[in-house]
Formats: sequence, C-alpha cells, structure tokens
Amino acid sequence: MDDKFITKYQELQHSKKRTVRGMVRDVALTGLALGASEKYLDKPRVQFLYIHHIFKDEEKPFDLLLKKLGRQHEFISYNDAVEKVLSGTIDRPYITFSSDDGLKNNLKAAEIMNEYGAKGCFFINPGIVGVTDFERLKRYCTEILDFPAAEFLTWEEVGQLQKWGHEIGSHTMMHMNIAKASAKEIADDMAETFSILKDRCGTVKHFAFPFGRFFHFSETGRKAVFDAGFTTCATAERGCHINPEAPMNAADLCIRRDHTVLGWDMRHILYFLINNAKRASLINNFYPADFK
Ligand SMILES: [Zn+2]
Repeated sequence: MDDKFITKYQELQHSKKRTVRGMVRDVALTGLALGASEKYLDKPRVQFLYIHHIFKDEEKPFDLLLKKLGRQHEFISYNDAVEKVLSGTIDRPYITFSSDDGLKNNLKAAEIMNEYGAKGCFFINPGIVGVTDFERLKRYCTEILDFPAAEFLTWEEVGQLQKWGHEIGSHTMMHMNIAKASAKEIADDMAETFSILKDRCGTVKHFAFPFGRFFHFSETGRKAVFDAGFTTCATAERGCHINPEAPMNAADLCIRRDHTVLGWDMRHILYFLINNAKRASLINNFYPADFK
C-alpha cells in the first residue's frame, strides 16, 4: 500500500479507524432512513449533490444512484441550477452535481454522469493538476486532505470534462483553509486561481471553498471570491434550495451542497436528500446571520 495510489473505497475505510461513534451513527441513520418517505423527493427544489471520488467499487453504486434519482429529478448543469435559484424559477425537482479536489477518477464519474445526461461542476486545485510524483502527492494527500495517496487529473483530462459539457470551478490553488489564512493570502490565491483557470479553461465562474463548513470560511474570504471575478460561491453545508421571495444577486446566494460518498449505504444517501427536501427552507439561500 505504501507505494501505491488508492483505487478502492474499501482501502479508504481500512486506512481510517472505525470509531464507535461512527458505528452508532450508521445504525441511527439506518433507523432514520427506514422512516423516511421518498415522496418528499417530488418537492420542487434544486439539490446540489457533491462527491470527491468514484473509486472502482463505487462505480456501480453511482450508476444505481443516478438511475434512481433520474426517475424523480431533472438533471441540470451547475450554471443552470444556480440560475434557477437566483431567478426563482424552480418548477420541479432538479439535481446538479459537483465534485471537489480533482481526483483522477472524476473522469470515470463524468463518464457515468454522461450516460444519464447528468451535468456537473468539477472544483479543482490548479496547484496539483498534472502532478504525478508519488511522494509529492502522498504528502499533499496526507498533510492537506487527510487522505491516502491518490492520483489527480491532468490538464488534458480537465479539458475532456469540458468537452463533455461539464464545468470547471476553483477550489483554491492548494486546498487552502481560508479561515486560517490572511486577507492578503486569500486575495492572492483567488487572483492566481482565477487567472490560471481562465487561461486554461476559457471561462471560470464557480468557486467552492475547501473543507466546506462555515467555520472553514469567513466574510473576508467570501468578499475575495467575488472581488477576484468568480460569480458563485459554494459551501459543503447540507440543504437544498427553493424559490426565493424575489430574484437574488449571485453574491448573496449561499450554495448548500450535500456530500455524497458512494461507498455509503444507499439508504443513508437517500435519507440525507429526503431530509433536505422535507426541511427545505428559504433560509438556506443565505449565509447564517452570525456568519463573519
Ligand atoms: Zn476539497
């Protein structure tokens, strides 16, 4: 394992210690999932669903999930999903996809999405695209991502995603924890990633901040995203979006995304989506009042 890149979700589970808390959570989720009604999925809303990886043993579950969700949802592009929320034109259940960190197997994820006409935005870190040196990747994965050594997309593969109709967004140069960075570090990083992605990909609009919870971000960071030229900003806080009372400005929209791991029990994945739909609220469109 020490000189090999991870290829299966199973290896990831083995690399992380299974905690009692994790096991209790799984049992509790299964109980909740049993009581969750799929009728909530018929509710008109936009659900942003995001992944990190589709390893070999996750390909079939991803295929099954898309097949299942496709029955109740229309799959739309990330850009269209944002537009629907901003303009308040959500008339049925919609799902858009995204993926963070730019792992090489995102290409396989896109291939599976293509089969279902599903579209997504791939949030990449330009500082690691195309790097192949094992030791360097292992260090980056262990120290920054808390992940086993993995392979990442090349610029050619990023281009392939675009050719298939997917979008490319920024996730900072090297997966920066914005809450811990200075205003200058943040502004410099935003400007650099924006300029690299614009050169490499033609256009760039979307940003998703690393680690994804509100406490990994800041109002300084949020302003810097839009100052650099990005037009949307995404979190990894769970929730879905419904029509606002009046059309919104993109800079005010707090995009919520649901983290999905295909190695999880399918009932748990669905439970999160059902729960979002059930609790759909206008509040989700905005940052919390105490966000600083
Ligand atoms: Zn990330």
